[in-house]
Amino acid sequence: GSDEVEKAKLAAAAREKYGKEPTIFSKIIDKTIPADIIYEDDKVLAFRDVNPQAPVHFLVIPKEPIIGISKATDEDTQLLGYLLNTARKCAVSEGLSNGYRIVINDGKDGAQSVFHLHIHVLGGRQMGWPPG
Ligand code: ADP
Repeated sequence: GSDEVEKAKLAAAAREKYGKEPTIFSKIIDKTIPADIIYEDDKVLAFRDVNPQAPVHFLVIPKEPIIGISKATDEDTQLLGYLLNTARKCAVSEGLSNGYRIVINDGKDGAQSVFHLHIHVLGGRQMGWPPG
């Protein structure tokens, strides 16, 4: 019936937004693998990048496993703002008083390698422009 059609549509939309398999970041969220966590609440997690590209390099992720920024929707407007605001506050607590770089890589051309939305925050050195 039309219920089944509606369910299938919702499932397809969820697959588009969340993917088929959890990433390594889901394991960091559920604490099955360790991370150096600098901030956590019910919506977001911030932790140090395991392969830092600057003296300070941490990631801010939503607990909701959205694949990437291009898969976010208008319903995520508040969450996206919350992620940026969390990045700003963590930059303060990490001592980045001279500024910092925020990066979101998306998809192939953006060189995204982990398909769970994340904001990179890099600082503690002079950044170049343009990025590679
Ligand atoms: P790239 O790998 O090209 O930087 P992304 O933007 O997808 O692409 O970034 C993924 C980031 O996640 C990388 O900077 C990587 O070092 C980091 N990372 C991967 N696994 C872990 C982990 N277990 N703990 C912390 N950071 C991780």
